[in-house]
Amino acid sequence: MANLEHLRNENRFSLIEADICEAFDPGPVDYVFNFASPASPADYLRLGVETLRVGSAGTLNTLEIARKYGAKFLHASTSECYGDPLVHPQTESYWGHVNPIGPRSVYDEAKRFSEAAVMAYHRYHNVDTHMVRIFNTYGPRLQANDGRVISNLMMQALRGGELTIYGDGSQTRSFCYVSDLIAGILLLSRSDEHEPVNIGNPEEWTILECAQEVMEVVGIADGEARKLAHLPLPQDDPARRKPDISKANRLLGWSPKIPLRKGLELSLDYFRECAVAEKA
Ligand code: UDP
Repeated sequence: MANLEHLRNENRFSLIEADICEAFDPGPVDYVFNFASPASPADYLRLGVETLRVGSAGTLNTLEIARKYGAKFLHASTSECYGDPLVHPQTESYWGHVNPIGPRSVYDEAKRFSEAAVMAYHRYHNVDTHMVRIFNTYGPRLQANDGRVISNLMMQALRGGELTIYGDGSQTRSFCYVSDLIAGILLLSRSDEHEPVNIGNPEEWTILECAQEVMEVVGIADGEARKLAHLPLPQDDPARRKPDISKANRLLGWSPKIPLRKGLELSLDYFRECAVAEKA
């Protein structure tokens, strides 16, 4: 709710609180953006069955609203559709390497089912659908305690505690700043493309390199003892992840503008406030 505070006096905005896993009718709409799902591994592992339900029944219910009102539809999909990828960087034509019964399957398979559902509503019901495959995203308003790597490392560095590195930290991720992601999603929402489009920043970092960037941005000097705590690597944690964004570039003229260092600097005040609020 705190993230909606600035819309309190906006008369073009209204909030309906509902469970999309149950059929519901918001009345006529022009566009449905379906972003509903826990997204952090810590959250979806805790809410496994709920994650499966929102990514199946929930997606079907929101598609039904688009069909009923002739609305356009955009679905938030994910790089997790590629699983622990054997193709690098990941192109949209790659079908992925996903463990259908592993711990992450509650998220991965729900998101893959959602993609099938979106394509089916496009094919069978002619709904004007779009799908974005979102890669790791960060920025102000990222939940400070949601367990993801940027929020964890930023908060740990600000608290002055140990930075947790899962495994040896050689696994890679490619981090996209939130405003770049939003720009890409809006362009896609106005396009004619119905198949998935990767939106992410192809700058690829090992988790150790990422921790180093965080320490420099927070101002932990190089000479200071680096406090890294190595914890076990979670099962099926993808070894590497990097989007091929040539499709988004070709179709939408989109590419990200904010490199990791700059994005972390832009996020610092927000995480500082979170750290202060935590102490209060
Ligand atoms: N990770 C880490 N320390 C943390 C949190 C995450 O080393 O405190 C690692 C995690 O094992 C993964 C990567 O950072 O390899 C990204 O994890 P995250 O949970 O942010 O999202 P994922 O990309 O796995 O969905």
